[in-house]
Amino acid sequence: MRLTDSPEEASWRQHVREFLQSDLPEVLRPKPGVDPFAAMAAAMGFGGEAGGDARGRPQAQAGGAGFSLAGGPIGEWRQKLADRGWVAPAWPKEYGGAGLSTMEQFILNEEFAEARAPQLGGMGVMMAGPTIIVHGTEEQKAEHLPKILKGETQWCQGFSEPGAGSDLASLQTRAVKDGDDFVLNGSKIWTSGAQFANWMFMLARTDPDAPKHRGITYFLLDFKSPGITVQPLVQMGGGAGFNQVFFDNVRVPSKNVVGEVNRGWYVGTTTLDFERSGIGSAVGIRQNVERMIQWAKENVGEGHSMLGRNPLVRLELADRLVEANVAKMLSYRVVHMQNVGMVPNHEASMAKLFSSELGQRIARAGIKMLGLYGLAWDAQSPHSPNHGQYSRGYVQSVSGTIAGGTSEIQRNVIAQRGLGLPRD
Ligand SMILES: Cc1cc2nc3c(=O)[nH]c(=O)nc-3n(C[C@H](O)[C@H](O)[C@H](O)COP(=O)(O)OP(=O)(O)OC[C@H]3O[C@@H](n4cnc5c(N)ncnc54)[C@H](O)[C@@H]3O)c2cc1C
Repeated sequence: MRLTDSPEEASWRQHVREFLQSDLPEVLRPKPGVDPFAAMAAAMGFGGEAGGDARGRPQAQAGGAGFSLAGGPIGEWRQKLADRGWVAPAWPKEYGGAGLSTMEQFILNEEFAEARAPQLGGMGVMMAGPTIIVHGTEEQKAEHLPKILKGETQWCQGFSEPGAGSDLASLQTRAVKDGDDFVLNGSKIWTSGAQFANWMFMLARTDPDAPKHRGITYFLLDFKSPGITVQPLVQMGGGAGFNQVFFDNVRVPSKNVVGEVNRGWYVGTTTLDFERSGIGSAVGIRQNVERMIQWAKENVGEGHSMLGRNPLVRLELADRLVEANVAKMLSYRVVHMQNVGMVPNHEASMAKLFSSELGQRIARAGIKMLGLYGLAWDAQSPHSPNHGQYSRGYVQSVSGTIAGGTSEIQRNVIAQRGLGLPRD
């Protein structure tokens, strides 16, 4: 594994960096003391708590009335990225992507993360589009891919159910053939962004008598279809980033089946592979620790920084920075394997496990650094150091070891496939 850029990679990095310096709209550039996520949310035209504006809405009808990624500063930014194929850098050029190699994508992601520039991918670019490219019909490609690239469709992922998360193949949402349609009944849960979505890619059971992996079909569901209800789930941090979605006799045309009927499990694993191949969080992790260290230095003696009083806080910050660099190395390993045509398996689980648990350790270090002020929540209060960011980050970090596969599941993968230990 090589840890420095080749001359070609260095020149690609420089190219991306120069583009970001010259073209990233002012409103999207990071400002000292401003939460980058809040700035992004404001530029997109929705405010409120992290994750959405659905707080307090007891129920929302589906249909994607939420916000648009096509207009305003984000629309302008999207156009600049689209001109280069960088809305979907990993997609082949024939579908409007940039057809970048793994290493070029990684460098692009790193530079975007360093500049904290929004990539606008979303689930359409990251998961729905790539799955349609691999398994979809020509008609599905023509209908969906251009709209995903233009930001005209917002997608959500309807996989998890109240009784099916880690054991996804146990899902019970039923799809019954009726003429040219299937009729859906059941419920999905933890559906991120469903309150903003106008399409969902989802799995439903079409043959309840078949072995559980064999009776599942993959559908593209228009969220304007009658019979869909989205119930926002308010998290303990106050945001309503995800939802429960109910289907009451929802009709899906057969042309919206991706792949073969009853073979949807294998299409779904393609989507999960794309979901888990996301690279780039390591830069964000390091930046978090660096911002924390900077804040601790600037606020010594201000009463709410424990740095001058508690030597353990210093050691914590030092440990977190070392670990942030370990997380980066684990990501490099995954990227290196992809780049030479290997398929990362337990190596990807190691990177996910380590970085999500590190995210929680960093959040705890932030709270410890503040002492009792770490309990302050109100972003506007003069008693909330750093606008309550560390208290909120602490609460929000909890979900990192659940989303995208829990830590226990990652450890099982490492134990069985990495260490060769028996299943039981
Ligand atoms: C922030 C966030 C966003 C999400 N967004 C989406 C989304 O958009 N779409 C979607 O479909 N889903 C989404 N999810 C759901 C996510 O994929 C599931 O929460 C996750 O797969 C775990 O499933 P579960 O919640 O049903 O927990 P369960 O599978 O019921 O697990 C409960 C506990 O048992 C443990 N456990 C389960 N099986 C084993 C085992 N074999 N060995 C050891 N321990 C085990 C787990 O680790 C966990 O601690 C999201 C979740 C979060 C937190």
